[in-house]
Order: sequence, then structure tokens, then C-alpha cells
Amino acid sequence: LTVLGSLVLSLMLGALYYYMLLLRQSPERAMRRGIRRGEFFVEYQPVFHTATASLGGVEALLRWQHPTEGRISPDLFIPYAENEGVIVPLTRHLFSLIVADLPQLMQALPPHAKLGLNLSPSHLSAPSFHDDVSGLLSKMPNNYFTLVFEITERGMVEEEHALAEFAWLHSQGIEIAIDDFGTGHSALIYLQRFALDYLKIDRGFVNSIGQDTVTAPVLDAVISLAKKLKMLTVAEGVETAEQMSFLQERDVNFMQGYYFCKPLSIEELVEFCRANPAFDHQASLISDI
Ligand code: C2E
Ligand code: MG
Ligand code: MG
Ligand code: MG
Repeated sequence: LTVLGSLVLSLMLGALYYYMLLLRQSPERAMRRGIRRGEFFVEYQPVFHTATASLGGVEALLRWQHPTEGRISPDLFIPYAENEGVIVPLTRHLFSLIVADLPQLMQALPPHAKLGLNLSPSHLSAPSFHDDVSGLLSKMPNNYFTLVFEITERGMVEEEHALAEFAWLHSQGIEIAIDDFGTGHSALIYLQRFALDYLKIDRGFVNSIGQDTVTAPVLDAVISLAKKLKMLTVAEGVETAEQMSFLQERDVNFMQGYYFCKPLSIEELVEFCRANPAFDHQASLISDI
């Protein structure tokens, strides 16, 4: 019994050690290997026009299916990738995964749909940035999608550089959204100088709707600021009918969240769009995908 017990114990210790080695020793190597072995894929979350409840586009979200650890959240691996210098190859990989999905994306989405993707602020100052973006553009079907790059407030910090890059992106026909607005150090002066296209209201704000007395006036201020600066507003993380009507009353332009639809695999997206040609959220709430 004791022999068996110590054998089991050492096996367990071995497994634990292996796990530590895998993730603690070198997340960088694990990610580079993951890229080579096809462990990453993309899910697409539909974004809806508030006024018509019709589909306006999708946001591409990167996923990592690790062979032993299972699904690892982008909230975990994106910061790792940024710190370990893997973010540029990982983003190029994201581009190639989206390109591979293009036939199905065109099947699912109408012309002029928005195709949003998240860009790490540090990529903006990488030497390969223009080449990476041009490479993606050269593989996009002509004028079919409007690309929207979502960048958090951290991307606005190096002001002069960011201004130049945003101007270049605009010259390439790419639109820009400030993501998770309200979570970082929002120096409001940036917003005015940057002339961005969309302001994405962080889901933390959306989540607080109806929960306290400060959220409503803060959201009112943010939305009217965006309007004055001629930015379109997108609310993310809409989970309830109450949140939806609050945002509807304030003329937020687009909405995204579990209340409408979760992030979907490319196959699920094709199916979703086939079943909901002009999606009406009142009539057909999907909650069971
Ligand atoms: P994000 O860009 O703000 O993306 C929205 C996140 O909110 C996604 O989480 C999405 O699944 C989640 N979400 C959508 N609707 C709801 C809702 O109703 N309720 C709740 N609780 N959550 C909702 P996800 O996919 O885990 O991504 C987290 C973050 O990771 C993203 O935040 C983005 O900052 C980053 N990320 C994801 N993919 C990429 C990527 O390809 N590149 C980069 N640089 N960052 C990425
Ligand atoms: Mg985003
Ligand atoms: Mg966001
Ligand atoms: Mg976020």
C-alpha cells in the first residue's frame, strides 16, 4: 500500500511539476508553439444597430485552446504576449486566421459590415506595423468589409506617434475605436485630438446601470461627449433588457453583449446569420448557443 501510495504521490507531483514547467517556465514558448500547432482560433461576436436591431458587424476575439490546460482566456494570454514580445507574431497569426475565415464571413455578413479586431497598443510602435496591416489589407476582398481596429486608452498615451499612426490607418480606409472607454486614464483631451470613429463604452459601466446613482449621469456625459466629437457609440457587455432600454433611450448607436448574442465560432456565426437575416432582438432572443 505504501509503495502504491508513494507511486501515486510521485506521479501527482510529476504532473504538477510538468504543469508549472509548461506555464511558469515559458509562456512565450508555449504561445509560439501554440501558433505553430494551430491551437488558436477566432470567435466572432455580433454587434447590432440599436435603431433597427439589424446586424452591423462582428468583433473578432482570439481564443487559445491549450492541449492540456484547456481554454485560456485572452485576458490572461494577451498581457503575457505583450510582456514576452509575442504580441506581434500573435496578431499576425490573428490576421491569418481571419483571412482563412473570409469565405464564411462573406457568406454570413452583408457588404459594408464592420469587422472589428483588437489591436495591442504596443503593436502601433512595432517596426513591422505598416507591413502587417498592409499584408492583411491585401488579402481582404475589395471594399466588402470595413475594418475597425479597437485600441484601448493605453494606445493613446504616446500621443504624437499614435496621432500619426491613426492618420495612416484612416488613409488606408480603416476605422478606429477606443475600446473599454472609462477604465483607463481617460484624458479627455486625447479624444478631441484623435478624431476616432467609435467610442466603446466599457462593460463595467453597462453592468452598473440601475445599480447605483452615479452611473446614469456619467454615462449621459460620456454619450453626449462622444456625440459632440462626432464619434459613434458602442455599448459592450449588454446582458439585460433593462440595460438595453436604458442605452436605447440615450441613442447609443450600437450594442453588443450576451443579451443579444455570445461570441460564436465561424460555423455558428454562419448559422446565426442564416436564421436571423435582419435580426430582431425582441422576437428571437438566443440564449442557448
Ligand atoms: P474586449 O475587446 O473589450 O472584448 C469584449 C469582451 O467582453 C470579450 O471577452 C467578450 O467575450 C466579452 N463579452 C461580450 N459580451 C459580454 C457580456 O454580455 N457580458 C460579459 N460579462 N462579457 C461579455 P474576451 O473574449 O474574454 O476578451 C477579453 C479581452 O481580451 C478583450 O476585451 C480584448 O481586450 C482582449 N482580446 C481578445 N482578443 C484579442 C485579440 O485578438 N488581440 C488583442 N490584442 N486583444 C484581444
Ligand atoms: Mg474589443
Ligand atoms: Mg471592449
Ligand atoms: Mg474588455
